[in-house]
Amino acid sequence: KSFADLGIVDSLCDACDQLGYKKPTAIQEQAIPLALQNRDIIGIAETGSGKTAAFALPILQALLDKPQPLFALVLAPTRELAAQIAQSFEALGSLISLRCALILGGLDMVQQAIALGKKPHVVVATPGRLLDHLEKTKGFSLRNLQYLVMDEADRLLDMDFGPILEKILKFLPRERRTFLFSATMSSKIESLQRASLRDPLKVSV
Ligand code: AMP
Repeated sequence: KSFADLGIVDSLCDACDQLGYKKPTAIQEQAIPLALQNRDIIGIAETGSGKTAAFALPILQALLDKPQPLFALVLAPTRELAAQIAQSFEALGSLISLRCALILGGLDMVQQAIALGKKPHVVVATPGRLLDHLEKTKGFSLRNLQYLVMDEADRLLDMDFGPILEKILKFLPRERRTFLFSATMSSKIESLQRASLRDPLKVSV
């Protein structure tokens, strides 16, 4: 199967081509058609499986349909992972003038507030700093968010981001799609799932 067979539009297929993605990986083949049907998804997949494009491509395709700022929020447990995710969004979104902001702990709040003020389409963040901005940065709101992704959710919970995730969820609209990716399933992940996803479909590789 090709990306086009999964329902991905030409401009994004071209971006995949440019990145050397010849055909979808297993997690992409499973997750993309469901995500394009507007469903919440739990993806059980490791780093290296191609999970980033599995959630980025459907989000970018939805964004093409309805271009608006602060469309998607991706939460990741570490700065390194968040930076990689932002890089993937920028690469896949390069043909569609995507604006992406990377919001990490330990860096200057003011610079980040300026970046958020430029109305990025996608925000990739570590949870603590994102919550800081939701609570303190004037004019920053995720009221119109369409997509939430929690990546490496098992690590998010292992690193005790659970209470911060709960607070972040209170700032997000209920009418949204949510994708949760994790290497493993556990009772903690199940309770996060119940708190944040609606009637999700599970895919696993
Ligand atoms: P990830 O699991 O999202 O961290 O992706 C692992 C690596 O696989 C990254 O370097 C991606 O650029 C690459 N990748 C993702 N999807 C594909 C694909 N369909 N074909 C080839 N490489 C891919």
